[in-house]
Amino acid sequence: KNKATNVYRDPVLGKELIEAILRQADIFQEKFGRKANLMEVCGTHTVSVSKAGLREVFRDKIELISGPGCPVCVTSHEDIDYMIELGKQQNVILCTFGDMMRVPGSDSSLAEEKANGHDIRVLYSPLEALDIAEENLDKKVIFLAVGFETTTPAIAATIDMAEQRGIENYYVFTAHKICPPVVKLLFQDPNLKVDGLLLPGHVAAIVGRKALDFIATEYHVPSSIAGFEPLDVLAGMFDILRMLNKGEAAVTNQYLRVVKEEGNIPAQEMLEKYFQATDSNWRGIGNIPGSGLELRDPYKKYDARTLFDIKVSATVKTKGCRCGEVLSGYIKPTECGHFGKSCTPVSPVGPCMVSYEGTCATYYKYERKV
Ligand code: SF4
Repeated sequence: KNKATNVYRDPVLGKELIEAILRQADIFQEKFGRKANLMEVCGTHTVSVSKAGLREVFRDKIELISGPGCPVCVTSHEDIDYMIELGKQQNVILCTFGDMMRVPGSDSSLAEEKANGHDIRVLYSPLEALDIAEENLDKKVIFLAVGFETTTPAIAATIDMAEQRGIENYYVFTAHKICPPVVKLLFQDPNLKVDGLLLPGHVAAIVGRKALDFIATEYHVPSSIAGFEPLDVLAGMFDILRMLNKGEAAVTNQYLRVVKEEGNIPAQEMLEKYFQATDSNWRGIGNIPGSGLELRDPYKKYDARTLFDIKVSATVKTKGCRCGEVLSGYIKPTECGHFGKSCTPVSPVGPCMVSYEGTCATYYKYERKV
């Protein structure tokens, strides 16, 4: 067993923290006459919270709302359809991370197209795509770049290496998303009552704690950057509730072993060199200005969107999936009529049931009453 990880799962410390949080939750309830609403912005936290049974532990005192932080889930339906069309083109090897494979598009999925004989490959690292490109010079090798700040520097590194190695048949389809714009949008929504945010430690490891300070300074919402072990999450929750009860707002760092004030500077520089912010369409949320990434002009030759004349319909077939409302924190997966009936991880209707970090998949695995 990994002793280093076990430190952050210590049951005695966990019990003490839970009791301390419950005391803070009582104070909040006395003060405001309701439960505190905390949002875990990222899908990895959604999994951590459910896996540790924390939603159930705090059910009567704190509302833990899942947010829009699963990169596969927030990828727009149009982008999914575009990726599937890319996979169907002649002389293309389409490379992707595994959790994109079964995401349903309008009429198909990458897994179905692979079964139909198209060359679609699941990789563990985008760097593998460069080797595939060198081994298949007669093919266009496209990597589907989906993810938040955590994964974007690795994609930028593949462009960097393609430049160094003179690889001319490697391309990326960028559906990347940036975290801060969607957080800002959340605070403009009068229907969403969020008192505090649990912020993703892996995103903060890249961008740095300071980059998230705007949540406190501009919106006065207490927030905490947390890791993904149970004690990390609990420590973050305690910070948020304590600040709420004191009427304070700051962005605390409960992931000090990984997150620095300034973040990972070499990763930021790598990203900055190859990518620039652009508008991006989020599933169920819509277009958010400056929330995506596109290749800078000198590197447009790597952009898979320039390769083929692919048109996808803007009229999407959602088949009654309510992923958009789940991702925006309006409903819980269990409020969707498909949940656990016509939509399961084996037969998903929407992306939130496909991805390991998808809210619906997480609820199906850990929160379902059977
Ligand atoms: Fe979509 Fe299925 Fe989740 Fe309903 S349960 S919102 S259909 S993924």
